[in-house]
Amino acid sequence: MSAFGKRNTNNPKINGNPTGIFSPIPMPIHRASTSESSRTSPVASRAKTGTDDGDDFAMFGFLCSQFVYNIKSSFDDVFISPVRRFIPPTTITDLPLNAIEPVWKDYQIFDSHAHIGNYYDIDASFSADELAVHMSQYNIKRAAISAVTKDILNDNNLVAEAIRKFPERIIGLAHIDPSTGISALKEIDRCLEMGFKGLKLHPVYDAYVIFDSRLLFPVLEKAAKNRLPILIHTGTPPMSTPIHIGYLAQHFPEVNFICGHMGLGDSSYEAPEAGEMAENIYMDTSCAAAAGLIERAIKRLGTGKFVWGTDVPYGNFVSEFFKLLSLRISDEEKRAILWENPMKIYRM
Ligand SMILES: [Zn+2]
Repeated sequence: MSAFGKRNTNNPKINGNPTGIFSPIPMPIHRASTSESSRTSPVASRAKTGTDDGDDFAMFGFLCSQFVYNIKSSFDDVFISPVRRFIPPTTITDLPLNAIEPVWKDYQIFDSHAHIGNYYDIDASFSADELAVHMSQYNIKRAAISAVTKDILNDNNLVAEAIRKFPERIIGLAHIDPSTGISALKEIDRCLEMGFKGLKLHPVYDAYVIFDSRLLFPVLEKAAKNRLPILIHTGTPPMSTPIHIGYLAQHFPEVNFICGHMGLGDSSYEAPEAGEMAENIYMDTSCAAAAGLIERAIKRLGTGKFVWGTDVPYGNFVSEFFKLLSLRISDEEKRAILWENPMKIYRM
């Protein structure tokens, strides 16, 4: 069998099902014939005859992707790379802000979800100095920041340096990977000594599920002992959604849990239910999908459960700030989300 995948011979469309409806669930195929070959499974009959239709499809798929890959790389070589040499990449601070009234100057702003470091998946990097410029430009007085890459020691060293450089403005969240066991606990201790105030967990980047109590409970016990708030990426089932965080919050009432992105896309539908599961669970609006869903969740849970963030360099200030401003809630509520709520969560 080829490694490139195989045709689903139980797919009714491929098998000439007259309805032509695709079903991702293998369906039994009924044929008039009662000959032996039609009663055995497609896999078994292939094994018998020694042929594998799947290989033809796999080879076809492989050739197609090679073709696309080749034209894409020559397109990049001929057109994109020479252009890149002359046009520097646009940075977040290059936005044409003179076109927008700087209404953010009227608000006290706490960015509850920001990052520094190199992010290969979006081809972006953001240093502590760049973050500081960004914060001054947008009137962000405080930011809870972390670095989330594959090199955890380097991530936390970068953030430690940012804390040293900007102690009044930066709240450090330690990137911890619970699947590293005792090393994760030692890393929390090391970060506490460097002045970190909370933790950041990213079950998707670090490849674990957030409801794996065997991995998570030692880290959460340590967080409870040190009263460390935890920002957790949510919105990627089955790794991490707001309901999962609801269960963790019920087990660890001493810890403030923030659902990063409020469940992101589809999982933001479950934010109201998750928010009702415990007192100590909060939602962060950064990159949360729809303004309407945020309004619905605020209506159900109350403003006190929400914080605002940019998720830079993934998100940007303008879209996140004006998303909050556009919500049909009072100005007082917006101010609480932008400042008072995160100040309470981080006990400042
Ligand atoms: Zn994040």
